[in-house]
Amino acid sequence: MEFLRSRILPLLSLLASFLLLYIRTSSKPSNSLCSLLPHDEYWILSKRIVTPEGVTSGAVEVKGGTIVSVVEGVQAGELPQGNVVDYGDAVVMPGLVDVHAHLDEPGKEEWEGFSSGTKAAAAGGITTLIDMPLNSVPSTVSEETLRLKVDAAQQKIYVDVGFWGGLVPENAFNKTALEGLLNAGVLGLKSFMCPSGINDFPMTDKNHIKEGLQTLAKYKRPLLVHAELQLDPDSSIELNDGLENPQSYMTYLKTRPTSMEEAAIKELLDVAEDTKLGGTAEGAHLHVVHLSDAQTSLDLIKEAKSRGASLTVETCPHYLAFSAEEIQDGDTRYKCAPPIRDAANKEKLWKALNEEHIDMLSSDHSPSAPELKLLNEGDFLRAWGGISSLQFVLPATWSYGRRYGITLNQLASWWSERPAKLAGQDLKGAIVSGNHADIVVWEPDAEFELDENHYVHHKHRNISAYMGKRLSGKVLATYQNSKKAFPGTVAGCRNHCDKAL
Ligand SMILES: [Zn+2]
Repeated sequence: MEFLRSRILPLLSLLASFLLLYIRTSSKPSNSLCSLLPHDEYWILSKRIVTPEGVTSGAVEVKGGTIVSVVEGVQAGELPQGNVVDYGDAVVMPGLVDVHAHLDEPGKEEWEGFSSGTKAAAAGGITTLIDMPLNSVPSTVSEETLRLKVDAAQQKIYVDVGFWGGLVPENAFNKTALEGLLNAGVLGLKSFMCPSGINDFPMTDKNHIKEGLQTLAKYKRPLLVHAELQLDPDSSIELNDGLENPQSYMTYLKTRPTSMEEAAIKELLDVAEDTKLGGTAEGAHLHVVHLSDAQTSLDLIKEAKSRGASLTVETCPHYLAFSAEEIQDGDTRYKCAPPIRDAANKEKLWKALNEEHIDMLSSDHSPSAPELKLLNEGDFLRAWGGISSLQFVLPATWSYGRRYGITLNQLASWWSERPAKLAGQDLKGAIVSGNHADIVVWEPDAEFELDENHYVHHKHRNISAYMGKRLSGKVLATYQNSKKAFPGTVAGCRNHCDKAL
């Protein structure tokens, strides 16, 4: 199977030697594995190749898993026969880099796991995925727990995988522990400003974050923050008392108002000052995950950026695709935190994205065991929160974004270039010579129905809010380094390949 050839990130000098050895020994092309390309050197031909300079016609030349060049204007007949895959006018774009996914392993494989999660990623055009430090058991908050993660991922991954570590009260003031975690190879840290719902991942306050940033500055790595602050812990008690209908989405929405995001971001911006040039945490970077509020919270972020803070913000396709008004009573597949807000807010999110005030997108793929979603009871207050979306993020962004006039270059920037930069992956995120050959080929006009006939690689298809939707943008192939991660067959290999994804 082809997963042997995906790598654990970080790729460079930070991991223990056995992993480096693992990376090296697994990167040799071999014809014995079906999904490996039959040639070390090949050309991906298309009339629409998305490069940082724009969309061009020609071929991407790949050798030894690296992009050697983009040859503009070249035709199939001018290239060596047999080593060319001609995609016509399908789009050839850098593979997506998803900086926010919960694969829940070790400990909660019944929720997702590395195997099904990365297989879904490959089928969705994602070539690099950074796994979150919580929703697995234990949470990734120390060198030892990171080792458990890495061990769990070995031999199971279909795309490159890296890890965020957790910034929690226990390690925030323990420099040795935090440096141990960073030295062991996490790409940065993640913290929560409200209860995470996970016992061994407690929330951090402003002081923990301030202290953590000092250590991150030394490593020049980011802190990703879940920015919601619980203002009035009693408000949810009133709702639980039966005064409001727990099956109504509006009831849930009231428990997490935009003021929670605003309050958290206000606090965060105080510490963001430290990340400025000449600040006490210069070199560190703050990243607000899954912004939902497109009004005051976003204005605060814009303001801090203009003052020179090292700050970025992401949102997720579910905030761009859905609105509160359309969520049916009891349909807990849509429950997430912060919540999906109204249609007017959704419009503003698209505007902010188009105007580059929101820097990038991530999936925040956060599945659970189906029974925890309480699909039968439909109780929004008690159901587990989290949207399951990994395989669908590219078509979802495209399908809902088309009406806002988004371009292929914007997609590449939001989904590949900027997330790669956030994760410190300098050789990923763009089709340029010298970069890893991480490439998605997709057909923007091909429509499909996410019905029972559609093959979904997520462990639990029924919990995804996207099921039942009609999307456009079909992933035809995902290439990674010297292999084709999706589908598991290639021209020249198809006849004997029986292990296609
Ligand atoms: Zn998350």
